[in-house]
Amino acid sequence: MSFPYDAPVSQTLFDRASLVTPGGVNSPVRAFRAVGGTPRFMVSGAGPYLTDADGREYVDLVCSWGPMILGHSHPEVVAAVQEAVARGTSFGTPGEGEVALAEEIVARVEPVEQVRLVSSGTEATMSAIRLARGFTGRAKVVKFAGCYHGHVDALLAAAGSGVATFGLPDTPGVTGAQAGDTIVLPYNDLDAVREAFAAQPGEIACVITEASPGNMGVVPPLDGFNAGLKEICAANGALYISDEVMTGFRTSKAGWFGVDGVRPDLMTFGKVMGGGFPAAAFGGRADVMAHLAPAGPVYQAGTLSGNPVATAAGLAQLRLLDDAAYAKVDAVSAEIRCLVGEALAKEGVAHTVQAASNMFSVFFTDRPVRNYEDAKQQEAFRFTAFFHSMLAQGVYLPPSAFESWFVSTAHDTQAVERIAAALPAAARAASEATA
Ligand code: PLP
Repeated sequence: MSFPYDAPVSQTLFDRASLVTPGGVNSPVRAFRAVGGTPRFMVSGAGPYLTDADGREYVDLVCSWGPMILGHSHPEVVAAVQEAVARGTSFGTPGEGEVALAEEIVARVEPVEQVRLVSSGTEATMSAIRLARGFTGRAKVVKFAGCYHGHVDALLAAAGSGVATFGLPDTPGVTGAQAGDTIVLPYNDLDAVREAFAAQPGEIACVITEASPGNMGVVPPLDGFNAGLKEICAANGALYISDEVMTGFRTSKAGWFGVDGVRPDLMTFGKVMGGGFPAAAFGGRADVMAHLAPAGPVYQAGTLSGNPVATAAGLAQLRLLDDAAYAKVDAVSAEIRCLVGEALAKEGVAHTVQAASNMFSVFFTDRPVRNYEDAKQQEAFRFTAFFHSMLAQGVYLPPSAFESWFVSTAHDTQAVERIAAALPAAARAASEATA
């Protein structure tokens, strides 16, 4: 398709970037390959808006893929960061900020008795899996197709997110041995989980699942699915790991645990808890966490783990996220979902808007999406047309049909009005799109 708006400065930057960085980006989905066109190079963010290198302003519905739940450049987060930076940027020693952040996480998420801070969601899930294997003395890991847990070798089998975007079933560089202990099952299918345990008694260390998946688009667990996973794990001596990197501190004060109350053995966090900086964590049962070095034998470490600037940002953000903040994000999410649904319905475009608290996405199909196979049935070419129309009108959506949209407390009436004004033309473009 042709792109209605060109972005000459972004294009020049992208050309420069492509010479020195593979594909011109540092994380694949940013390259716009699923939708085509020029990736926008952003220069600043304020509240619900991003401004690109060509000086165009966008209502941001990506929010840095989840972290910016208070919007961009929140003054109190910025002040906390400035204060921390002025005291030094990294010490390689313990510090009070990391204790305070750990205490905040433990206070909010009841199943987390102890927590270890790391720098990315990938590190968190990788370490949680290692700990589960070390604790149980077993090798195999169950994951679900369409769930993304970062680019951990063992978990890059049938992953969603960028991997879904590119339709890669797997990735070169992950050996058979690394993926060989990974069992990939269809999401929302408890019978498949029971069968896997029955077929491999005493071999499965853990089941890892996104608490409510957002990496194949938003596909919430069916009623009883997470509780069923927990039960099957407990009955078989395996650990239940809930990956809350995306949902943690976003879908409620206590993340998805605050929504469904199913108690995991281990949990992983990232995104919101870093306030826009690289901070992530894994935690859970104290008896399991006690196996982690230096308390126990399972090794895990990080030069920048618990970094004072990142922990200051995360703590400032979490402390601002009270019940009123979540009510606000939930309300604006509901309003935008409603507007999108109405605009698409008006143009007769088959669609399903699915939500998990304030996370949501739009599938271009009229059937409910319960797993990755369902998600792949959508008419993704309609999303491409929809995306470019919104972009041209100053609304920045995730550049893939397989991602969650994110909003923030800063998405006010003015921002919602801009989205509403852009939707009719975008819905028309989606309806007129051809494969
Ligand atoms: N787990 C989930 C559920 C995620 O959504 C992501 C990233 O999107 C990760 C893990 C990996 O986190 P990171 O990108 O910080 O490594």
